[in-house]
Amino acid sequence: MKGFRCMLVTWKNIEDWVSEVIKKIELDKYNPEVIIGLARGGLVPARLISDRMQIKDLYAVKTEHWGITATPDGQARITQTLPINISGKRVLVVDDITDTGQSLSLAVDHVKNMGPSELKSATLLHILHSKYIPDYYADVVPEDKWTWFIFPWNVYEDLTNITLKIMDENQVTIESLQDIYEKYFQIKPKKSQLNETLSILIKKGKIVRDGKIYKKL
Ligand code: AMP
Repeated sequence: MKGFRCMLVTWKNIEDWVSEVIKKIELDKYNPEVIIGLARGGLVPARLISDRMQIKDLYAVKTEHWGITATPDGQARITQTLPINISGKRVLVVDDITDTGQSLSLAVDHVKNMGPSELKSATLLHILHSKYIPDYYADVVPEDKWTWFIFPWNVYEDLTNITLKIMDENQVTIESLQDIYEKYFQIKPKKSQLNETLSILIKKGKIVRDGKIYKKL
């Protein structure tokens, strides 16, 4: 089974990274009037930054790139453009992470074309191989430490996708699933999270349960 390194990100991690990003924005004396979050990953970070910086003008642009957990689906694209006029405003565009950097680069270009007076970008994490470098980020991830970050707002999307991938090759019990996660994905989801993941997959008609055993349909 081919796994990849994951990290189960906690809300404490998010709060620390948001604080760090805000510290850098303030040190730079940047004073945005409008925040634009990239749906979906940048929505919660954008909301938290808008709360801490007391900026009520918060909007979203939607980009799509990585269709299934840890699998990019071709070129990034904008699927929801900015629905308001930000001409002449100081803008901050926010996302969770720059990996290839395509999504943020595309969104920044889109917003730039709408004539803001100033435009900066921020992410919580920046993977060093990214083609686009955000103006502000809390932490960097070296290229050889590439990790799939399972953010608290994405837990069940990621765990269902990874669990289905595991179940392509294995029938599982909760215990064996936990072992596979530890061995191949370097994380230890709680049994309650795995129970919830499996019950979502049963409800979606993707897997069935036979006693303690779960298998793909
Ligand atoms: P990208 O266009 O490759 O910079 O990434 C687009 C979006 O995919 C990011 O904003 C994240 O929501 C998600 N994503 C990409 N890489 C990762 C990763 N290593 N861990 C978690 N989410 C990721």
